[in-house]
Amino acid sequence: MYLEKLNPQQRMAVEHGTLTDGSHIAGPLLVIAGAGSGKTNTLAHRVAHLIVKGADPRRILLMTFSRRAAAEMARRVERICRDVLGANAGVMADALSWSGTFHGIGARLLRDYAQQIGLDPDFTIHDREDSADLMNLIRHDLGFSKTESRFPTKGTCLAIYSRAVNSETALDLVLRDAFPWCAAWDKQLRELFACYVESKQSQNVLDYDDLLLYWAQMVGETVIAEDIGDRFDHVLVDEYQDTNRLQASILMALKPGGQGLTVVGDDAQSIYSFRAATVRNILDFPAAFSPAADIVTLDRNYRSTQPILAAANAVIDLASERFTKNLWTERQSSERPRLVTVRDEAEQARYVADMVLDNREEGLKLKQQAVLFRASHHSGPLEVELTRRNIPFVKFGGLKFLDSAHVKDMLAALRFAQNPRDRVAGFRLMQILPGVGPSTAQKALDLMAEDASPLSALAAMPAPPRSGEDWTDFVSMLQELKTGKAGWPAEIGLARQWYVPHLERLHEDAATRQADLLQLEQIASGYASRERFLTELTLDPPDATSDQAGVPLLDDDYLILSTIHSAKGQEWTRVFMLNVVDGCIPSDLAVGASAEIEEERRLLYVAMTRARDGLDLVVPQRFFTYGQNSQGDRHVYASRSRFIPATLLQFFEACSWPQVKSQTAAQAQARQVRIDVGARMRGMWR
Ligand code: ATP
Ligand code: MG
Repeated sequence: MYLEKLNPQQRMAVEHGTLTDGSHIAGPLLVIAGAGSGKTNTLAHRVAHLIVKGADPRRILLMTFSRRAAAEMARRVERICRDVLGANAGVMADALSWSGTFHGIGARLLRDYAQQIGLDPDFTIHDREDSADLMNLIRHDLGFSKTESRFPTKGTCLAIYSRAVNSETALDLVLRDAFPWCAAWDKQLRELFACYVESKQSQNVLDYDDLLLYWAQMVGETVIAEDIGDRFDHVLVDEYQDTNRLQASILMALKPGGQGLTVVGDDAQSIYSFRAATVRNILDFPAAFSPAADIVTLDRNYRSTQPILAAANAVIDLASERFTKNLWTERQSSERPRLVTVRDEAEQARYVADMVLDNREEGLKLKQQAVLFRASHHSGPLEVELTRRNIPFVKFGGLKFLDSAHVKDMLAALRFAQNPRDRVAGFRLMQILPGVGPSTAQKALDLMAEDASPLSALAAMPAPPRSGEDWTDFVSMLQELKTGKAGWPAEIGLARQWYVPHLERLHEDAATRQADLLQLEQIASGYASRERFLTELTLDPPDATSDQAGVPLLDDDYLILSTIHSAKGQEWTRVFMLNVVDGCIPSDLAVGASAEIEEERRLLYVAMTRARDGLDLVVPQRFFTYGQNSQGDRHVYASRSRFIPATLLQFFEACSWPQVKSQTAAQAQARQVRIDVGARMRGMWR
């Protein structure tokens, strides 16, 4: 029986509220516990248990930090339900349709209630880059970038705006506390943000922050809050320590008494304060729902061996805040985590590649190993080394497949067809056409903006002098997509047909890029509609693959490369952590306030607690940095991260690499992985 596998505390959390039938709704529950103690596992069991006891899966709202996590949760829930209720019941868990990220769920609810809150349900969503582009257009229009030579960059403007919105804090306080060097522009920034908000509204676009902001505003209306709250008997949230104030206020509005509300998290793993997440949400939960809230703590770690856990505990014990949880494990091992000194990043890359292959020879799949790093660019040299040795890898976080220009062009076409008021999309698309520059595009978009039916206005415009047929083809492509007659996913094929001749004209490597577009179509076919595809893809893009041709790796074996942030909640048998040096972790961007340093310490803790059996922290003695000094980019000498002071060395096995015997080039060559290219090419058409 599934409950028997759980320990008494986990079981208490799963069975919380005597659920003899699905109609009995439990009071608020907080599960607060350390890494690897089975929080996510417990949450999955709780969802399954609710369903087994008769709860309607369509009335369960489950919010996790990524779509990947949501899918994994649904899979586990389905398995448990099937074991208990038999084959047909598995279908029940499939109906767990309301699971996803806060932003994704927000987008769906906003479309459902759009009419009631004066929003056009065809709104499109801007990703961070689109948002920064729009901010930039307005910055120029207002003349700030010209008159004020040191006016904050588009990225900084967006960060300030986002911080103010997510933390529900006044602009002057945000500037004072987080962006003091921009405080002089308080007045201009206020004007910029006002225009930014106005133009998003007139263009019918929402940015990431709006999804939460509109959602919070929407449930500020009691009638709507009750209506949405009534749709869900149970609301469950994983990784609660990384929610921000808006997210907490949304939950409060949906479930004011906390009935049916379960949140789980670990205060020692809070790593998103740069997005205004606040650990206060989890710490204040008991008081917010006093006296009804029940609290369950878990203290047994099931993931890591004792030496790994001891080292991770020692790192977090040095934090200035006290995290009281003391984790223990029964997984004994004589292997301490390694602290490996290498000469530089190139050697670090060779070390990791060698070890990964060694492990593979011993029977460990590549997929069971992961390489983690603080910042996306830290993996550059390793990516080169892995590519050279034909070791396939997938990178989580960082540069995405979707960031490439041609993929963005295609998405812009779909977005513009859905919402012809989306200026960033329109601006991008029109300039693909020969003979259309920024000013022509601006003029066309202005005319469209004034018209009640923007696409008809576009069709009525004379084609710009040098773009004749290309212009009319463009307009008819949009019109055809707008009708929705072709259906989904055929629509994306239409957009591609329109785009490919331009792609061939604009890019020398058009063939490779076309392969990416085919991959995009393959991804698209997994979604029910254009709107769902655009929403989900913008919010949580698929991971970048090592494969230049963009051929999906399907069920191939591959190594995981990931930023620490994107590794959240996951585990691997062996974990390598790159650049465990001051300047990388803590990042040199964080050397200021002690709160920032503390967050970096928690990041290292998150990284270390991802490992089950083996953990290598690699310390290059020199690393490459993007110099902000007069010399430009440079190598600097590094010292071991301050989070591992001499007093902690007892928890590690110190070694340096290469050891005495060094490999010959021929030996190294022989250790390359062999892959079946033909199978991959066939995979493309599967
Ligand atoms: P994190 O803080 O990293 O998110 P977590 O607390 O969510 O971790 P899980 O990912 O749920 O922890 O579980 C960690 C590992 O422990 C998983 O491999 C899970 O299968 C295993 N595990 C959890 N509970 C039990 C149990 N009662 N018996 C055996 N294994 C368990
Ligand atoms: Mg978890």
